[in-house]
Amino acid sequence: MRSGTLQLRALPPLSLYVHLPWCLKKCPYCDFNSHELSSALTEGLPEQRYLDALVADLEASLPLIWGRAVHSIFIGGGTPSLFSPQAIDRLLGDIRARLRLDADCEITLEANPGTFEKDRFKAFRSAGVTRLSVGVQSFDDRHLKALGRVHDRGQALAAVEEAAQAFDTFNLDIMYALPGQTLENLEQDMRQALALQPPHISIYQLTIEPNTYFAKFPPVIPEEDLAYAMLDRITEMTEDAGLARYEVSAYAKPGHRCFHNLNYWQFGDYLGIGAGAHSKLSFPHRVIRQVRYREPGLYMEKALAGDAVTHGHRGEPWRPAV
Ligand code: SF4
Repeated sequence: MRSGTLQLRALPPLSLYVHLPWCLKKCPYCDFNSHELSSALTEGLPEQRYLDALVADLEASLPLIWGRAVHSIFIGGGTPSLFSPQAIDRLLGDIRARLRLDADCEITLEANPGTFEKDRFKAFRSAGVTRLSVGVQSFDDRHLKALGRVHDRGQALAAVEEAAQAFDTFNLDIMYALPGQTLENLEQDMRQALALQPPHISIYQLTIEPNTYFAKFPPVIPEEDLAYAMLDRITEMTEDAGLARYEVSAYAKPGHRCFHNLNYWQFGDYLGIGAGAHSKLSFPHRVIRQVRYREPGLYMEKALAGDAVTHGHRGEPWRPAV
């Protein structure tokens, strides 16, 4: 971009996204950059090597964000809660040693009930995570099974209970328009979710995405009209419970909006590190976008060699076009 085309007087807030790409099992609807643990790795999760790669990736990115404070960190996936609390502690320590975090920096970690064990969430809290996002999706065993999730209703309830004990703020991810779901089923699911008094809920419609198992073998899902009726009902029920809708799929009690979500919606900056992560970073006269290598093995190899970026600007000193 030529010098002078863009004239930013101030840079937008900066967030950090960290992608941890493994899951116990690939869900049939999932088009995220997530990789099944068992089939991908014979020796288990390569925690330390992946953390080393993240540090190398972050260090190579530092010239692009010199001097800027970070307002939020989001550790997403994949299933980040597969990483041990000790690994998350090391990750946050490594980040703190290299970046200036705001005193009230929001640090979210995504967790799945299937990876839950007693006191694990408390240990994430002690490591410095301030906000847990629990991938419940549904409290109905029939629908969890149809979604190919590894957890059941009992595990979902236990996970939310421990999240509520360990964190002042937490999120439940809930999906709707599920195979065979009726409006009554959805209402029941929402009643259960709201009874747990989450300060924040994110609601996603099940959609059939290309290159997924469901794209090949599509399940019967509710018609569009019913899906709209479900969303209207969700909005009514969440409002009645004191959670206001503040972006397309997020509902929060006062004081519990997710800064990281809002930063994306308000065209804030984000540095994304980890396999397949995306970045958008502003400078006074340009905006750059980057994508990291997507396959975890290749990402680790490239990041450790100081070359994690596959598309976009790699961080060379900028010169005006002539
Ligand atoms: S747990 Fe989440 S990220 Fe992992 S496969 Fe399922 S939907 Fe995708």
